Amino acid sequence: MTRLDLHLHTTFSDGSLPPADVVRLAQNAHVSALAITDHDTVDGIPEALTAGLERGIEIVPGIEISSRWRGIEVHILGYFIDWTDAALLARLVRYRDSRHTRNPLIVEKLNELGIAITYEEVRALAGPASVGRPHIARVLMNKKYVTSAKEAFDRYLAEGAAAYVPRDLPDPAEAIGVIRAAGGVPVLAHPSWLDRSEGIVPLCKELKIAGLAGIEVHYSTHRPEQTSHYLNLAKQLDLLVTGGSDFHGVTKPDIEVGVGRGRLKVPEKLLEPLRQAAAGSCAGT
Ligand code: AMP
Ligand code: ZN
Ligand code: FE
Ligand code: FE
Repeated sequence: MTRLDLHLHTTFSDGSLPPADVVRLAQNAHVSALAITDHDTVDGIPEALTAGLERGIEIVPGIEISSRWRGIEVHILGYFIDWTDAALLARLVRYRDSRHTRNPLIVEKLNELGIAITYEEVRALAGPASVGRPHIARVLMNKKYVTSAKEAFDRYLAEGAAAYVPRDLPDPAEAIGVIRAAGGVPVLAHPSWLDRSEGIVPLCKELKIAGLAGIEVHYSTHRPEQTSHYLNLAKQLDLLVTGGSDFHGVTKPDIEVGVGRGRLKVPEKLLEPLRQAAAGSCAGT
């Protein structure tokens, strides 16, 4: 066992594999501890815990909540959350509901562009999952309108693309507060997604005041110089360091559990500080 993977999606949100399969792949990749971080849902955690027990892999209960800051999307990961917390569960229902307001509008726009898919097809593919744009991408792939999820996002689904519709999102301070209230440790996900914006330092400073505890320094797509850059930022701002693959299965086929694009290696030593931060946040409430 040589590494962590603290950012993984399953069929309970927009990943294409169930938690038990993700845990099996993690074992093959020599992952000692992993976090399931589905979008706006904790429903995959029990299955992951069972699979983790069977395979001797620690499962960190996690979540990923989307938010908006000055017009840009900011994702907040939460670790060691109490995934049975009633207030958390109620809030997540609201966040998932906003997906069902937005996604049919995306389908309508696609229809206007001459693409014959229905929201029922998207829902049928997603099942009980927290439905997201990757599900729409998969319907477009299945019906041969595109050959990859990347093409679906580039042409239709990404911010600014032809069928994009923004979702009603909380601000990051709310997402951080929801995670903290459930005893979790809030961490800024994939900071490299934000670099085109006004700068990540003001964002991190503001979010730290709101309770942000860490930053996802190690990430599948980060080049070595990006990893060092975010490592320095974490030091400068006194934030914990985390990392993960953001594995999704078929919609991100180049990313594998544990190793990302092959070079990801999230050090095991990062887990204890995260656990201690969670213990500290419980003691403080
Ligand atoms: P949603 O939660 O419905 O707003 O969808 C956002 C999710 O789409 C992100 O969390 C990613 O998992 C996925 N995503 C965003 N851009 C791409 C892309 N270019 N290719 C594949 N998946 C993407
Ligand atoms: Zn996703
Ligand atoms: Fe994300
Ligand atoms: Fe993610």
